Amino acid sequence: MRIPCPCCGARGNEEFTYLGPAGLTRPAPDASEDAWHAYMHERENPAGMHRELWWHGQGCRAWIVVTRDVRTHRIEHAALARDPEAAR
Ligand SMILES: [Zn+2]
Repeated sequence: MRIPCPCCGARGNEEFTYLGPAGLTRPAPDASEDAWHAYMHERENPAGMHRELWWHGQGCRAWIVVTRDVRTHRIEHAALARDPEAAR
């Protein structure tokens, strides 16, 4: 799979590290154990498009939000995580 880094262009996925789903909201430090458990371990995994957070550690070291179809690995969109566009 090739990931279109907004800074470097298309690169092999071996240059990147997958963090997980983009857009998760971290619980408050004093949140319940159930809230922390859900944040850390409970993920939906539907077939289709996912928004994912990737780190280009072997390149520009940017965090990237990738919108990818997990059935085909087709990437619809990639943006720097710090860009407001990525937060959509
Ligand atoms: Zn890059």
